Amino acid sequence: MPAQIVLKKGKERLIHNRHPWIFSGAVQSMPEIENGEIVELLNIDRQLVAYAFYAPGNQIIARVFEFCSSPIDVESADYWYNKVKRALDIRKTYVVSTYTNAYRLLHAEGDFFPGLIADVYNNVVVLQFLIKGTERIKNWVVEAFERLGFDYIYAKSKKVSQVLENMDIPKGWISSKNGPERVEIVENGAKFYVDFQNGQKTGFFLDQRDARQLISLYSKGKRVLNAFSYSGGFSVYSLLAGADLVHSVDSSEAAILLSEENAALNGFAVPKHEAFEQDVFEYLKQIKQNTYDLIVLDPPAFAKTARAVPNATRGYKELNLKAMKKISPGGIIFTFSCSQKINRELFRKIIFGAAADAGRNIRILAQTTQSLDHPVNIYHPENEYLKGLVLQVE
Ligand code: SAH
Repeated sequence: MPAQIVLKKGKERLIHNRHPWIFSGAVQSMPEIENGEIVELLNIDRQLVAYAFYAPGNQIIARVFEFCSSPIDVESADYWYNKVKRALDIRKTYVVSTYTNAYRLLHAEGDFFPGLIADVYNNVVVLQFLIKGTERIKNWVVEAFERLGFDYIYAKSKKVSQVLENMDIPKGWISSKNGPERVEIVENGAKFYVDFQNGQKTGFFLDQRDARQLISLYSKGKRVLNAFSYSGGFSVYSLLAGADLVHSVDSSEAAILLSEENAALNGFAVPKHEAFEQDVFEYLKQIKQNTYDLIVLDPPAFAKTARAVPNATRGYKELNLKAMKKISPGGIIFTFSCSQKINRELFRKIIFGAAADAGRNIRILAQTTQSLDHPVNIYHPENEYLKGLVLQVE
C-alpha cells in the first residue's frame, strides 16, 4: 500500500484541473518516506484523488501520473506496461510506417508519465529518467518495453537530473541484451545515422519531424542554408526535395561530420551538400546578400531559465535580423525557438522586431510546433516548447 498525502482544504480545484504538479503549499500532511516513492493523494475528506511520485523537500512535492477516485494497482508491472502501450498505440496509428521508424514514444507529462522520456530509433529505445520516481520503477519500465517487443533499451539520463535527483543510472544498456553502437533510422523516407550514445539529447531532434517535412514543399531549385544543422535533418529533406545546393552550418565538429555522413547516406556529396564547422552568427555576417533563397534557423534553447529571457530575446532578434537582411528577394526563412520560457506570442514579437529593423516586407506563410509524438497534456501547457514560423521575405 502506498503512503498517503493529504491536500489542504480548498485545493479541490487543483484536482479538477488535473495539473500534474502538486506544490508543497497545497499539502497538509506529508509522510516520512523517501524521494521518488509512489504516494496516494487524498482530499480533505480522505478520499482518493490521485497517485503520484513523491519528492519531499522539493517545491513540486508530487508529480501525478494517475487521477482516479477508486484504487488502482499502480505498484505492478501491468499498470506501467499498459501506460506505455497506450502511448505506443497512438504512435503506431499516426507516426510509424514503412517510411518512419523513429519517434518519441513517451513525452513525460504529455503522456501522463512525468519523469520519463522514451525515444525509439529503429530497434533501439533510448530512455531519459528525469526524476527519482521513475528511476525507482526502472525494472517495470524495462519489462514493459521488452514485452512490447523492444530488445535494446539504452539509458541516457541528463547530468543535471542525476545530480539534482541524486539518481544512479549510468549511461548504458539496461535491457537484457546489448544493442549496437549507433543505429540507422528512416524518417519520411529520409535515412539518418543516429549516434544516440554520444549525440545531443537522445541522439536526434524528433520534435522537428513535421517541420522537416514541411521544408520539402519549399526546397525545389533553392539555394539552402541550414543553420544549426546538427546531424543534417533539414539539409537531407531539402536535398531530397530537389534543392540546388545545401550548406549545413554547425559549431560542433561531431555534428558536421554526421551531417556529411547523412547527406552521403541519401546520395548527396560536395558540391550539392557542403558542411561548415562555424559559429552561425559569424557565418551570417560573412556571407554576401542573395547567397541563399531558403534559410533555416534552428538554434539551441537560448533561454533555459526565466532569468535568461532578456538575453535570449536579443540573441533571437540578432540572428533573425541577420538572416532577413541577407536572404534573396522572395526568399523563405524557417525560424524556430525551442526555449520553453519564450512563448509563441513573445517569439512573434521578437521576429516582428527583427523584421521592422530589416525594413523588408515579410509574410508569415505557416506556423509550426513540435511533432505530434511530443503531445501536450492539456492540463500541463508548460510542455509546449517548440514554435516555428515560415517567413517569406520580399
Ligand atoms: N535542426 C537540427 C537540430 C538543431 S540543434 C535538426 O533538425 O536535427 C542545435 C544545434 O546548434 C546543435 O547541433 C549545436 O551544436 C548547434 N549550435 C549551438 N550554438 C551554435 C552556434 N553559435 N553556431 C553554430 N551552431 C551552434
